Amino acid sequence: MCNLDAVLDIAVIGAGFAGLHMLDQLRRYEFSCHAYESAIGVGGTWFWNRYPGARCDVESVDYAYLHDPELHETWQWSERFAAQPEILRYAEHFADRRGLLPHITFGTTVTGAAFEDGAWNLTTDTGERVRARFVVTAVGCMSAAHTPPIPGWERFGGTVLRTSRWPAEPVELAGRRVGVIGTGSSGIQVVPELAKEAAELVVFQRTANFSVPARNRPLTQQERNAAVARYEQQVHDARTTRFGHAVIGTGKAALETDPAERAVELDARWARGGTHIVATFTDTGRDLRANAVLADYFRDRVREQVHDPATARALTPTGYPIGTKRLCVDDGYYETFNLPHVRLVDLRADPIQELTRTGVRTIGGDHELDVLVLATGFDAFTGALTRLGITGRDGRALTEVWRDGPRSYLGLAMAGFPNLFTLTGPGSTMVLSNVLRAIEHHVEWVRDLLVHAREHELTEVEALEPFQDEWAARLAELASGTLYPRTDSYYLGANIEGKARVFAPFAGGLDAYRRICDAVAAEDYRGFRTA
Ligand code: NAP
Repeated sequence: MCNLDAVLDIAVIGAGFAGLHMLDQLRRYEFSCHAYESAIGVGGTWFWNRYPGARCDVESVDYAYLHDPELHETWQWSERFAAQPEILRYAEHFADRRGLLPHITFGTTVTGAAFEDGAWNLTTDTGERVRARFVVTAVGCMSAAHTPPIPGWERFGGTVLRTSRWPAEPVELAGRRVGVIGTGSSGIQVVPELAKEAAELVVFQRTANFSVPARNRPLTQQERNAAVARYEQQVHDARTTRFGHAVIGTGKAALETDPAERAVELDARWARGGTHIVATFTDTGRDLRANAVLADYFRDRVREQVHDPATARALTPTGYPIGTKRLCVDDGYYETFNLPHVRLVDLRADPIQELTRTGVRTIGGDHELDVLVLATGFDAFTGALTRLGITGRDGRALTEVWRDGPRSYLGLAMAGFPNLFTLTGPGSTMVLSNVLRAIEHHVEWVRDLLVHAREHELTEVEALEPFQDEWAARLAELASGTLYPRTDSYYLGANIEGKARVFAPFAGGLDAYRRICDAVAAEDYRGFRTA
C-alpha cells in the first residue's frame, strides 16, 4: 500500500469513531491519507469490548455522530442505551457509507513513529513502513488494557478472559465456575450477564463503586422521531453545554435545597435511570458536604437492593466522593448478589494473594474457578499513545517526555512533536464529556488546522513549550476546583503502579474547552510554531 517512496499527507492511527471521522474528513478535503488499525474491523473500543452486557452509558441518540445529518435522520437506534453489537454496526455502517474501508489497513499495529527530516516514519508490526507529513492519532482514551500485577498468572490453568478483548466467538460458561476481578463500568455490566450462565460466580471487588440503574428499554418510534426533530438543538447543545449534550439538572445547590425537595428530585432521576442524576445539583462536584447528600442517596439504594446485610455493606461505596470515579450504569447489578450462586469477595477485607493452578487465593482461602474474567481497566489516556513508540524532534521519546505525566497543548499537540495531533488526547475533556462530541470537535479542529497548513504551505506545525506549560497549569487549576483529585482513580493515573499522578482531563467542560480552541484558531493558531 503506502511506502517510503509515497509520502502521505496524513496518516491516521486508529479506526474507531475518531479515526473514521478523521479519515472521512481528510478524504473530503482531498488530502492523501490512510489509516492503520490493529483490529480486523472498524469500531475501536466497540470492536474490542464485546463482553456480554457491554453497552454505552450515554443515551444512544446522544452517542452518535452529529456531523452527518442524513445519518442522524436515517439510523434507528433500537434501545435507549445501545448494546455493543448495535454500536459496532453503526460504526461499520458509517465506514461503508463513506467508502472508508479501502483506505484503512486492518490487523496492523503501529509500533514506531519517528519524526525525521520533516516528516513521520511509521513502522508497523506487519513490517510496513509509511512516511507521512502529518500524523493524527485516534487511539482512544481507554484502549491499553491493564493487567493487575497479581502473582501466578502463568500458574492458572483455567481460561482467562478480558472484558476489553472479549472473544468474537461465543464463550461457553454454562455449568462453569466463573470469577470476575474488577467492579468498574465493565465489571458492573458483565456481572449480571455472567450470572445468567455460570454455575457459580465470584466477584472480587477492591473498591465498591457508585452505580445507577440504566433503566434501559426499547425506544419507541415516537422517541426516535423526537430525536430526529431535536437535531438542531443537539448541534447547539454540543457547542454550549458542559458535557456536549443536555442534562436535566435542577440548577440549584443541594445545600440550599430543602431535604424533601432533594429527595423528590433524586427519586425522579433514579427512576428515570442513567447518569443525569449526578448533575441534579450544582454543588456536588465541588463541595464535600453537598457530595455527601448525593453519595448517601446512592448508599441507601444499595441497601434497598441487596438482601444480605454483610454483602450490602461491602457493596456500599465509602471513603471517596461520588463522581470522582466514573459513575457506573448498571442493569440489575445489585440484585445479582441476591442470587444463591453469586458471591462477593471484598478484597479490602480479604486481599488476593496469588493465582493458583485452580483459581484465586485470597487471605481467607481458595476460590476454585474454571474461568477468570479481568475487568481491571486501562492504562487510561496515555497508555495507547506511549505504546506507539513515538519519538519526536531530536529523537526524544514520548515515554521520556511524559515520565512525570502527560504534557500537551489543548490535549491536541505536544512541544517537540511537530505535525502530530492527538484526538481526545490527555489534556482535553476526554471522558469528562460525551466522547462523540469531543471527537467531532477535535476532528473538525484538526482538519481546519491541516487545511490552514496546506493553504499557507506550512511544513511544520508544533505546539510551543510555554503554551504547553500554561495549559498544564490551567488543567491543574481546574482540577483543584473539583473533588476529583481526592480520589485514586484512572483520571489521575492512580490505577497503574508507578504511573505519574497527574489529573489528565480538562475539567472545565466541553463548552469552555471549545471556546478556547476556537480562540486559538481564530488567533492564527496561537501557541503553535509554524514554518
Ligand atoms: P475501571 O473503571 O478502571 O475499573 C477497573 C476495576 O478493576 C476497578 O474496580 C478496580 O478496582 C479493579 N482493579 C484493578 N486492578 C485491580 C487489582 N489489582 N485487584 C483487584 N481489583 C483491581 O475499568 P473499566 O470498568 O473497564 O472502565 C473503564 C472506563 O471505560 C469507564 O470508566 C468508562 O469510561 C469506560 N467504559 C464505559 C462503559 C459504558 O459506557 N457503559 C462500559 C465500560 C467501560 P479499584 O477501583 O480499587 O482500582
